[in-house]
Amino acid sequence: MGKIAINIATGSIQKNDIIVGIDLGTTNSLIAIVREDTKQPLAIREIDGLALVPSVVHFDEYGNVTVGAAASEKLISEPQNTIYSVKRLMGKSYKDISNHADSLSYKIIDDNTDALVKIQVNDTFYSPIELSSFILKELKQRAEHILKTNISKAVITVPAYFNDTQRQATRDAGKLAGLDVLRIVNEPTAASLAYGMGLQPNEEKTIAVYDLGGGTFDMSILKITNGIFEVLATNGDTYLGGDDMDRILMEHWQSKFGINSNDNSILQELRLTAETAKKHLSNNDFFESNIAGKTVNISKTTFEALLKPLIDRTLACCTNALKDATLQVTDIDTVVMVGGSTRVPLVKNTILQFFNKKELFDSLNPDEVVALGAAVQADILAGNNTEMLLLDVTPLSLGLETMGGLMDVLIPRNSKVPNKVGRQYTTHIDGQSSMRISVFQGERDLVQDNRKLAEFNLTGIPGMPAGLPKVEVTFLIDADGILKVTAKELRSGIAQSIDITPKYGLTDEQVEQMLLDSLTHAKDDMQVRALTEASTEAQQMLDTIERFMKKNDGLLSPDETSTTLAQMQILREAITARNKNLIQKETETLNDISRPYAERLMDFALKNAMNGKKII
Ligand code: AMP
Repeated sequence: MGKIAINIATGSIQKNDIIVGIDLGTTNSLIAIVREDTKQPLAIREIDGLALVPSVVHFDEYGNVTVGAAASEKLISEPQNTIYSVKRLMGKSYKDISNHADSLSYKIIDDNTDALVKIQVNDTFYSPIELSSFILKELKQRAEHILKTNISKAVITVPAYFNDTQRQATRDAGKLAGLDVLRIVNEPTAASLAYGMGLQPNEEKTIAVYDLGGGTFDMSILKITNGIFEVLATNGDTYLGGDDMDRILMEHWQSKFGINSNDNSILQELRLTAETAKKHLSNNDFFESNIAGKTVNISKTTFEALLKPLIDRTLACCTNALKDATLQVTDIDTVVMVGGSTRVPLVKNTILQFFNKKELFDSLNPDEVVALGAAVQADILAGNNTEMLLLDVTPLSLGLETMGGLMDVLIPRNSKVPNKVGRQYTTHIDGQSSMRISVFQGERDLVQDNRKLAEFNLTGIPGMPAGLPKVEVTFLIDADGILKVTAKELRSGIAQSIDITPKYGLTDEQVEQMLLDSLTHAKDDMQVRALTEASTEAQQMLDTIERFMKKNDGLLSPDETSTTLAQMQILREAITARNKNLIQKETETLNDISRPYAERLMDFALKNAMNGKKII
């Protein structure tokens, strides 16, 4: 019997459609599929057997693009035209990267704003999205060539800590490359999937994913329950990896063998030899070579002593991740190893010891395991496997601005993703025809202290008295962590929606700072919120009574009118004085004074109606 694939993103039925899994990495990228015959994931390889495509893009003087190993060769000779590590810039603003811009050898436009970064090559400006799309296009073409079929659908992986903007940027890069990105999957989730974790219906497991690559270290703690992956915590260091091991060895040789050269080509040779030595020592006890006429050597024991401080730094991240997840080492059922640097025996042994385990999941190629998992996810989406959900949590609360600049939280922080929440709002002015929907992210009570993600106007609300329109605002976060906000006036059916593509991303430190701020300011915030709420309520009552008196001239006696006006003035003064208790007291007094008027108006209206007259 043949298989029919259902694309759960579009609901359409497709036959024989290949969906590829892509690991779009900082240093290397690769593409994988699940083989139809063996049902096993497989990295797509060139004839030379290589699956990894260096994530490097080179532009020649005419703007022609080369990607991969051929582009890497130009890193030294043409640094301004050769772009690497573009993943670090995805969804980032100039402000976000101001500390790192100098360490890159290509040109980032000099700016210090919230706008998304652009890279200048010759006279052309490229966004990280465009640059990533070149890498994706290259992968797509390679796969099409090798598999001899058209490829238009993909699952792409991102680090678990990527925020909305970074995920959206990755999705856009896929679109630009001509790929329909069916899902964005977290890298640690993909690595676990590659080992078949989470595929059993009743499986419950807590997994630590240790990912030490060339330039970055990520620690993630995941929980699988009934095929649902949840990220409990992430930690890591975006500037720690195999490159640092090479650098440590270089420095050791420079001081021990007196190779103190400023010559770039010698330094380059030294770096390459250090990397060769590191790899050699993963399987041997001693390494020796020649650099610039001098012999260099190192034993495994000495190398391991040099590496210890670096590996200890990764352990500190593991400890922090466990703490954030409120777990003990003993709660971890499984440890998955990802990234080329986990081939270093000392790394493996240290992690085994730290997690107190007999065995680590490291049998798959650590450079390929994320792409293999993405292929498994693609296979699930193609309908070839059990339906599964991938869960994430929101790092910060998401909400709307309401009267008085208050934050009304719809999705609290740490909520599970996907998620959908709706809440009703109304107008506060008669005949109000539009409503501004401002979406914020953060933990503070006043929106001015949080971060604005987007804003739009719901227009065309039919004229109605204040308080009558029912505007339902819905927040929908899809499985990729992308937020869609919809506002709909229920009586008239008019609706508007927006996909949130924030102006720039937040770093982990900023998220932490925002959480910290919310704690330190909690008491102040509560007081401000209480005052704002009291003032808003008072102002609404003043507006209502003013309207009432204008409309129903003659209903109140002169005495009543002057008493009311005097109390209204007292209340206005209390609002100006920003005294919450006084505002509440005077609002109540005004309410007591005005309540009988409303009752009288009702009687009036009733009498008139019974006389067959129209109600005003
Ligand atoms: P990744 O970013 O996951 O591709 O990891 C690449 C890093 O893994 C680079 O720093 C490589 O030098 C390192 N690496 C690759 N193979 C080995 C090996 N056999 N032993 C130690 N490190 C390795």
